[in-house]
Amino acid sequence: MASTLTRTLVLVAIFSVVLASSHLLTHDGKPVEALHSKPSTVDEITGHSGALLSGVQDWFASFATMADMPKEERLRLLKEENEWLNSFVMWIFPDGIREQIPHFWQTWLRCWILCALVYFGIGAVWSYYIYFCFGDKLFAPDTMPAFKDVAEQIRVSNIAMPLYSMLPTLTEYAAEKGWTCAYPRVANVGLPAYVLYFFLYMASVEFGVYWMHRLLHDIKWAYRFLHYDHHKYNKEHTLSPFAGLAFHPIDGILQAVPYTWTLFYCPMHFLTHEILLFATGVWTANIHDCLHARVWPVMGAGYHTIHHTTYKHNYGHYFVFMDWLMGTLHTPEQYEADKEARGLSKLIPTTAAAAPQMPAIAAGGSGGKKQQ
Ligand SMILES: [Zn+2]
Ligand SMILES: [Zn+2]
Repeated sequence: MASTLTRTLVLVAIFSVVLASSHLLTHDGKPVEALHSKPSTVDEITGHSGALLSGVQDWFASFATMADMPKEERLRLLKEENEWLNSFVMWIFPDGIREQIPHFWQTWLRCWILCALVYFGIGAVWSYYIYFCFGDKLFAPDTMPAFKDVAEQIRVSNIAMPLYSMLPTLTEYAAEKGWTCAYPRVANVGLPAYVLYFFLYMASVEFGVYWMHRLLHDIKWAYRFLHYDHHKYNKEHTLSPFAGLAFHPIDGILQAVPYTWTLFYCPMHFLTHEILLFATGVWTANIHDCLHARVWPVMGAGYHTIHHTTYKHNYGHYFVFMDWLMGTLHTPEQYEADKEARGLSKLIPTTAAAAPQMPAIAAGGSGGKKQQ
């Protein structure tokens, strides 16, 4: 456990230093005009020896800085964009009714409708493709999920969906109030800073999702009262794309909340944040189809199926890196080799060529308990 804590603290320290450096490089809101009349932040700290960094700083600023547009204007654009999204999605309601619904609740309804569209749209297309079109090639006989399991997953997901939708609604509220670092236009920071902050944002999300998921296993009552609802589908071949949102509502919100909390310290283009949040709906359908696509370093269904059967591996989100660093990675290749050695049948069908292997890291210590 001590080594896990050390590795976690080292990751937090590295992230903090990189984020702080990024703020220096992107001037953290200093207007472009001011750069040419006053010494830059880096020069103030390091004198003329910071010429190289100062040059990079000027290069970032030549695209844009946050201060090029007043905060009130950025917030106005954010709200205008959100109102447009509301009216675009809620055209099904007559104008007279829609105008009676406050902006906050329009946003909530819009998030719920979009969430349901993503869930049913992706789930139906995905299931049709893998079970009806290519089921005989992708699955061994009698290894596809039973209809009653899929129906149960849809039922649990639909109960949770109105509550899931509160997370993006509250996030949007916080962004419109100016409590986050979200900005409305890529041109507010310039393309290089947009790309830089995108990677930092996703690094923070990967870290947050890993730890949130792992704690939902390591803290016994959290597993029992929250995460167990998702782990009911632990027998081989009971998972389906419709299991992707089959969580206790609080569990689903907790695992998505790193997308929100990161907005409070990492500048992020708000529409990109919303697209990423809804992309998790597509991603979670994909990782529950039990088909191992072998696209390294992506943590696809082959890895997640193992998570559902061992309970102590592969907690990560999109990539294998967090599990690798924390010693909880278990590859489908290792898993199948173990099973073969024990004379058991193949669990995870494969759909592509072999992926490269990562060097082994000692297990992190906790999370070794079998949870049922
Ligand atoms: Zn889990
Ligand atoms: Zn799962």
